[in-house]
Amino acid sequence: IIQVKQLKKNFGSLEVLKGVDMEIDRGEVVVVIGPSGSGKSTFLRCLNLLEIPTDGDILFHGQSILRKEMKIDKYREKFGMVFQLFNLFENLSVLDNVTVGPRRVKKIPKEQAEKQAMELLRQVGLEDKAGAYPSQLSGGQKQRVAIARTLAMDPEVILFDEATSALDPEMVGEVLQIMRQLAQQGMTMVVVTHEMGFAREVGDRVVFMDGGYIVEQGRPKDVIANPQHQRTKDFLSKML
Ligand code: ATP
Ligand code: MG
Repeated sequence: IIQVKQLKKNFGSLEVLKGVDMEIDRGEVVVVIGPSGSGKSTFLRCLNLLEIPTDGDILFHGQSILRKEMKIDKYREKFGMVFQLFNLFENLSVLDNVTVGPRRVKKIPKEQAEKQAMELLRQVGLEDKAGAYPSQLSGGQKQRVAIARTLAMDPEVILFDEATSALDPEMVGEVLQIMRQLAQQGMTMVVVTHEMGFAREVGDRVVFMDGGYIVEQGRPKDVIANPQHQRTKDFLSKML
């Protein structure tokens, strides 16, 4: 559903993405790994046009998203994004955090949005926290709310940027478990993570980025257990 062609992104004179090609199929889970500064976040942000690519193209359902008549807001709605820091609205209850997008952006009536939100909170195991405020939740719970909020917008693709990196170790598992469930339900996901266990077990493909390029990609068991490139080997040896 997404084709990335020779994607380049510069910030001033800094070349961050130097020609990235990638195809992502519906229902696929693509795990992106690579050292700090290699361009992983920039790549995700180009996919949903939070950053405008400098060169190259991105096709969504076969159509360039960079064409002039493209409705960027409508396009962004098709992408959910889950960040390292959850960006919940602290002054809104859990339930309101999940319903605010559908109500404001999609004009869904309150009652219907709340019914759907409760369903999603059940899915992430937080039905009983609907009335709580973010400050009353653990990091793992906050991230599960953030995932429910993303799902409430009914995205076609969800981008995860180090969604578990800010969590205490004992909370990482509960968030990865929700991500695993989504993958099993057929959600299309691009996941930047350092969790090699997740990459191996849930990823359909692992992509190793370094220096603004994709150095190698393939089935997780191949890339992780038997990397072909020295840079991938060096990176993975530091991960374990
Ligand atoms: P990390 O693992 O640390 O999150 P990353 O692979 O996600 O790293 P990016 O955040 O994509 O890396 O950043 C790649 C490079 O682009 C870095 O050198 C960063 O400083 C630079 N960069 C990112 N965003 C901007 C920006 N808005 N303006 C200028 N430079 C930027
Ligand atoms: Mg990053």
